[in-house]
Order: sequence, then C-alpha cells, then structure tokens
Amino acid sequence: MKSILAIYPGSFDPVTNGHLDLIERGTKMFDRLVVAVLQNLEKDPLFSVSERVAMLREATRPWPNVEVDIFDGLLVEYARRKKAQVILRGIRAISDYEYELQMALMNRKLEPGIETVFMMPAQAYSYLSSRLVKEIARLGGAVEGLVPTAVAERLKIKIS
Ligand code: ADP
Repeated sequence: MKSILAIYPGSFDPVTNGHLDLIERGTKMFDRLVVAVLQNLEKDPLFSVSERVAMLREATRPWPNVEVDIFDGLLVEYARRKKAQVILRGIRAISDYEYELQMALMNRKLEPGIETVFMMPAQAYSYLSSRLVKEIARLGGAVEGLVPTAVAERLKIKIS
C-alpha cells in the first residue's frame, strides 16, 4: 500500500494548542507528517526559526511519525522535493477560507499532483491564533491552556 506523506506548513510563531490539535489529527490520517516552518525574511517574527523549530520538536515528541523541518521559497517545490502527496492546512472560521482556497488553488495549478487537505480543530481552538497569543502575552494576560507550558514560559522570557 502507498505510504502518504503530508506537509503541514506555517509560521508557527509560536506553536499553539490549535496547531497541535491539527497535528494530532494529521498523525492519525497520514503515515508521516512533516511540520514545515516557513523561513520568511519579510515577516518580523517574535521567535527565530530555530526557536520555533525547538518548541515544535518538543511539543510533537509524543508522535513518532512527526518530523519538524524548515523551508523557504515555493511550498510546492519543497513538497515535490520531499515527495509529499498532501499539504495539510487548518480552517478555523469562514475568515480563513478565502485565503486558504486561493492558496490551495494556486498550489494545485503549480503542482496538480499534490492535494491540499483542510482539517478543522476542536471548537475550543477555533478562535486561537499565534498572533492573538502574542498579543495576550504582551498585555500581560495568561496564555496557559492556549500553548504548551514550555511555550508559555518562553513567551514570558521573550516579552519581559
Ligand atoms: P501561516 O502564517 O501560514 O498562516 P500559521 O502558523 O499561522 O501560519 O498557521 C499554519 C496553519 O495552521 C494554517 O493553515 C492555519 O490556518 C492553521 N492554524 C493556525 N491556528 C490554528 C488553530 N487554532 N486551529 C486550527 N488550525 C490553525
């Protein structure tokens, strides 16, 4: 039987429990899941790529079929190089849909052999984003329950 490799790309600045919810669902559906951190020099991230990778590696340790990697440039090029059949993306609300649809259709045009699969997180995470977590942390709010404990600690250090 064919083994399915999926790529879950994103900024993960930082990883949240919403991302982890999606990763867990992905581990059950695909044989291997590569969480690919985008190295985007234009964005102004809070955490460096290596910090984001370290947090992801720690948080995904329970799942042996998850690998964490870094990529830059075109996602479909990276997926082709990895011989992935699937790109995994999360849809939280209607507001995600338009942008995600545009990206998925463009990626299909660039590489018809790769399928984008959308998954929904548990409802409790449908309002959760890395951007919101950073904003709450900056304003001194509690991020416990929104991100793994190790990430909450790093956020505190980074922002203080
Ligand atoms: P990007 O900069 O590519 O949007 P993110 O790290 O913000 O990177 O998100 C990566 C992927 O994870 C996207 O598909 C996004 O929709 C999804 N995602 C982010 N937060 C959640 C969440 N709380 N629940 C489900 N999916 C999520």
